This record gives sequence, structure tokens and C-alpha cells, in this order.
Amino acid sequence: MHTKQVGKKLYMVELETGGFEQLICSYIITGEKPFLIESGPTSSVPKLLLGLKELKINFEDVRYVAVTHVHLDHGGGMGTLLNSLPNAKVIVHPRGAPHLVDPERLWPSSQSVLGFISDIFGKPEPVPKERLIPLTEGSFDIGDGAKLTVVETLGHASHNLSFYESFNCGIFPGDAAGTYLQRFKVIVPTTPPPFHLDAALASLDKLISLNPTVLYFSHFGKASDAVQRLKDYKVQLQLWADIAIDGVMKNQSLEQIRDRIIAEDKVMNRIIGFVRSHRIYSKTMLENCVLGFIEYAKTVNK
Ligand SMILES: [Zn+2]
Repeated sequence: MHTKQVGKKLYMVELETGGFEQLICSYIITGEKPFLIESGPTSSVPKLLLGLKELKINFEDVRYVAVTHVHLDHGGGMGTLLNSLPNAKVIVHPRGAPHLVDPERLWPSSQSVLGFISDIFGKPEPVPKERLIPLTEGSFDIGDGAKLTVVETLGHASHNLSFYESFNCGIFPGDAAGTYLQRFKVIVPTTPPPFHLDAALASLDKLISLNPTVLYFSHFGKASDAVQRLKDYKVQLQLWADIAIDGVMKNQSLEQIRDRIIAEDKVMNRIIGFVRSHRIYSKTMLENCVLGFIEYAKTVNK
């Protein structure tokens, strides 16, 4: 089984991207108007289609695929996915839309930021422009009187949307609320450059004001205590920022700033063994995400 029920009318699909478990997932809202959240990367589109088959959803019946943002791990597979979903339209932030239509520019920049990880995700195929619905707000009928509401949540990216669904009072934050490590039940910052702290904190306030019960992370899975987790994430982001700002002022290296973060953030301290041994997280969490704060700190210290 690739799918797992995680709420009323809601299923998670484990994409097992590159053979990694609990790395990336997509979500399927079932009912008369099936709705997907996140295409995931190109390489794992077959897994998502298998998930639809498992739930006995006809590909022709899928009306919408909502993508939180167009980074390869969330929206890279959209063009490939749409080849199999002839009637689906794509909900995307207007700043992300051009990258779906013409992924040629996104690919080399992803390769330079992600290195070998971009090859694990696979190269994106273009999405026909007429299949996109670019927006920053609005809501969609998901059946039985429930709605999926679009919330603009910038910070991680300049094109990150979150989605609130009223069946379960849950939020799909994309990367606006960090990475959830299910095995430890903790959140770790997802902050590659260019990261904008103020926008990220404002986005978290927006999500908190919706008073959600659960969070459905694309990395990875369902987490309860949504409001408390969002509040804790704000504190964690501020801690990393304070360390980075102080470190940049003292001309410390990425490694020195990273080691201070590991020492001072209780969450990082607890999970560092796992993160160091993980082929992907050791690069994304311990290099890219720290670098995001360092680049942010340089703009503050100017
Ligand atoms: Zn991501």
C-alpha cells in the first residue's frame, strides 16, 4: 500500500522518492471532485498514480492539483503528472507559474543548490500555460460543503502557498512550517537561500490565526497539536536567526554557526546523529538551511 488515510476523505501517498522513506508525500482529497496536493518530484510521479489507482480514483476525474510551491520536490513532477490527468488544472502562486511553464531555468539553479539531490528528484517537464490557475487567495469546493482555502505564506520561497481544508481543520503548509521528522515528532527549519525571516514569521502568524488542528507536511506526514507546533517553529526560527546574526558579526564560518545551532537548539541536539547519517538531510538541513540564515543575517548586519 502506498496510501494511508490521514483524515476524513484525506489520504497521504508515500512517494518513496529515490527509495527514501518518509521524505516526500502527496495528499489526495477524495470525493466527487478528487483533489491532489503536491505533484511531488518527476521521479516519483508513478508512485502518485499508483496511489490514485489504489483508491480507485479515475485519472479523468481529478479536477485540481494544488502545489504549495514550485521547488522540484513539490512541483517538479507537475508536467509529467498532467500527462496522465487530462482534466486536471493546477493551482499555483503567480510567481511560481512561469517556472512550471518553462522549467528550463529552474533546473540548472536547482542543480547548483541541490547537487546530486536534483538528479534524485528528476528533471521537470513543462506544464501547458492554459492548465494553470495562478492565485494567492480564494477557495475551492471539495464536496459535502467543505472547502479548500488558499493562504499565501511567503518566506521559505517567494511563491509558497498553504492550503486549509475544512473537513479536518487541517493545513498543508508546503515548506512554510519546516520539515516534520515523524520518527522524532519534531520540526526542523527548511530555510535554503533566499530565506526571508520576517515574511516566514508573518506567514506562521497567518496559519496560527486559522486555528488549525492538524498539519499535513509534504516532508513528512500528519502532525497534531498544530497551533503549538507553529508557535514553537517561530521560536526555533528566531533562535537560528539570532545565532546566525551573531555569528556573521563575529565572522564565523558556516561550520561554526552550524555547530552553535546544533548545541543551542534542543531539537537539533537530539536528532543530530540521524541527520548526519541521512544522505539528503545532511546536505539540506546542515548546509542549505544554515546558509539561508547566514545570507539573511548578512542583510540584517549591513
Ligand atoms: Zn521541500
